[in-house]
Amino acid sequence: MRLLRKHSCPMRGVHRCLAPRSMPAILAAAAVLAPAHAAGQAPELSPTTVPQGGLVRVTYRLPEGRSLEKASLVFGSTQAQCFPYQGVLTGLLGVSARTRPGEGTATLWVRYQDGSHEKFPLSLTVTSANFPTQRIRMAKSKTGLMSPEILKKEREILNEALASTAPEPLWEGPFANPLEGRITSPFGRERYVNGRFWGFHSGRDVASPAGRPVKAANTGRVTLARKLWMRGNTVAIDHGMGVFTLYEHLSRFSVTPGQQIKKGEVVGLVGSTGFSTGPHLHWELRIHGVPTNPAGPLREGISLTP
Ligand SMILES: [Zn+2]
Repeated sequence: MRLLRKHSCPMRGVHRCLAPRSMPAILAAAAVLAPAHAAGQAPELSPTTVPQGGLVRVTYRLPEGRSLEKASLVFGSTQAQCFPYQGVLTGLLGVSARTRPGEGTATLWVRYQDGSHEKFPLSLTVTSANFPTQRIRMAKSKTGLMSPEILKKEREILNEALASTAPEPLWEGPFANPLEGRITSPFGRERYVNGRFWGFHSGRDVASPAGRPVKAANTGRVTLARKLWMRGNTVAIDHGMGVFTLYEHLSRFSVTPGQQIKKGEVVGLVGSTGFSTGPHLHWELRIHGVPTNPAGPLREGISLTP
């Protein structure tokens, strides 16, 4: 491998080095070197042990001379598209808060323009985040929003807003809190509404009087600014590479879809629209659609390089 990297064309280097030897020796040497020429460096997952709701990065230096068509890191039902970044295939995977803890396998699929593909099984261990349980009382007038039809309609709109992402990072540095205030419900809590299991909390709730400005957690492009049923007035921002943030229950919007937005710019005002018991901001970090714990990206950003 070290020999190959010194030459701009490895095969030319092999011919030059082995020219005085016999033909069988050349063929034997070529047989040893050929796989190294054909394959890229082994893909790397980081970290290889992750808590529920955590974030994993894959990097893979593609083989020389082969043109990428598409690549995904697949883990359970999650498909995380990967993109070339600074010459290295790079992808981000959000591990759902509902993933059962234990040893598993994430698979990197790489398809090339010549029709060939590579497949790499990569070990990934998920640990329990010990999310606590929360019980909520909701007024009867709002429980009608919990219907499967409304949820389906809302999910379709949201999926469309999160379907297309910039193939490069638009975010800069650590993510910023969209709103200062007391966190009334952190990410990941198991929720029971009026005694019925309702799922896990997919974002973070921040208490605030109505009307306070809500700011973009990072730089990106607005892909959604509209009224939804459960989420109320909702804004979605694409930060590139599959990373999105959502801002919900707003009283009003300050942005429109398609708009470029900088970290800290106002997206709307705090409200209590949709499935909400009072003025607060619910915001989410999603990686390829998977709600992910924002604590790490708030602390240190999202790194794309090992
Ligand atoms: Zn919430």
